[in-house]
Amino acid sequence: MRVPVATKSHHYDVVLGHDFLAEAVKSFDDKLQKADKLFVFTDANVWSAQGAYFKANFPYDFEVFVLPAGEACKTFEQYYAAQTFLLEQKCSRKSFIFALGGGAVGDLTGFVAATFMRGVPFIQIPTTILAHDSAVGGKTAINHPLGKNMIGAFYQPEGVIYDTVFTETLPEREIRSGTAEVIKHAMISNAKWLEELMTADTVIHFSTDDLAKQLKAGIEVKAKIVSEDETEQSVRKYLNLGHTYGHAIEAAAGYGKLAHGEAVMIGLVYCLLLSERYGQLNRDFTTSFLHFALKNGYPFEAVNHYSFEQLTEYLLKDKKAEYGVLQFVLLSKIGEPFVQPIDLTECKEVDTEFR
Ligand code: NAD
Ligand code: ZN
Repeated sequence: MRVPVATKSHHYDVVLGHDFLAEAVKSFDDKLQKADKLFVFTDANVWSAQGAYFKANFPYDFEVFVLPAGEACKTFEQYYAAQTFLLEQKCSRKSFIFALGGGAVGDLTGFVAATFMRGVPFIQIPTTILAHDSAVGGKTAINHPLGKNMIGAFYQPEGVIYDTVFTETLPEREIRSGTAEVIKHAMISNAKWLEELMTADTVIHFSTDDLAKQLKAGIEVKAKIVSEDETEQSVRKYLNLGHTYGHAIEAAAGYGKLAHGEAVMIGLVYCLLLSERYGQLNRDFTTSFLHFALKNGYPFEAVNHYSFEQLTEYLLKDKKAEYGVLQFVLLSKIGEPFVQPIDLTECKEVDTEFR
């Protein structure tokens, strides 16, 4: 399966399949044959779970750089270590870097690739469900102690190779986390798709075929949006559904305590409550969506662990907040997102309803 992404700065394909790494990498042969060196960035968990499959199927020689697992790789220290590694290994603009991992590895590698010698081509090889979202669209970043994803660049990959074999070793929590972004893609684009998800027995244990279909549908939504608006001037904002409140909960909990998508799911329910006030969605729908989320094991206790005042600090740090007014993505109905400025007083009212 192939999904084209056509942004202003770059056109590329996302190729999706099962047990097809060798063939997928070979499809980039014209570019890779000309490369002087290939580098693979990954993290310790991914390398221990999937390194053997990767080595057995990757058709070229490469140098590997293994980062600390998860969010711990998105630091200035790891960014610096990665640049040092590339300098020592004589990486050049004719080299290619592969990001083998989840959103964390993808974000760090993308930012390294964007800035090393002002740009080295890179290819994303996502290994989490969540990375169907993060690997497409060219947002790259590392964290600053004062804020997540604060230092970054828009830098598109040369391609994305999504081999679902990689997802087979994901812990259930990471599957749940990534699936929240699939659900988000359904909510902003297609009521029928969301209904299918909400009536499925489970969205956490898809068959290989069903998982590929869900990922492809999610990637298509993302590809269409970033092709229209690469740098988030307009419709790309819709991808932030659930993220304003979700990010605040994720930050208040301390990164790593709640998985990104778990926090996003909390944010999605919060957005439905807010949407009731501005669009056609009603409380019955919010309630059935909440039941669906609970049935699939999404944790909502976190909402009660932090006061609204604690969340406010993080809400105001949102990159989209202006003069104390937050820019929330809401839904007039499923598949019809819009951006609505909401002040803190109203945020608090809805927060109180939520608890
Ligand atoms: P992650 O990359 O931290 O991976 C989650 C955990 O699973 C890590 O411990 C990782 O080592 C492990 N893991 C990954 N793949 C595995 C596999 N196949 N088998 C076993 N373990 C595996 O998390 P994520 O949820 O993929 O991504 C979250 C990150 O993505 C955050 O930093 C977030 O800011 C970023 N993000 C970026 C964008 C974007 O557009 N660039 C969008 C959404 C999220
Ligand atoms: Zn997200």
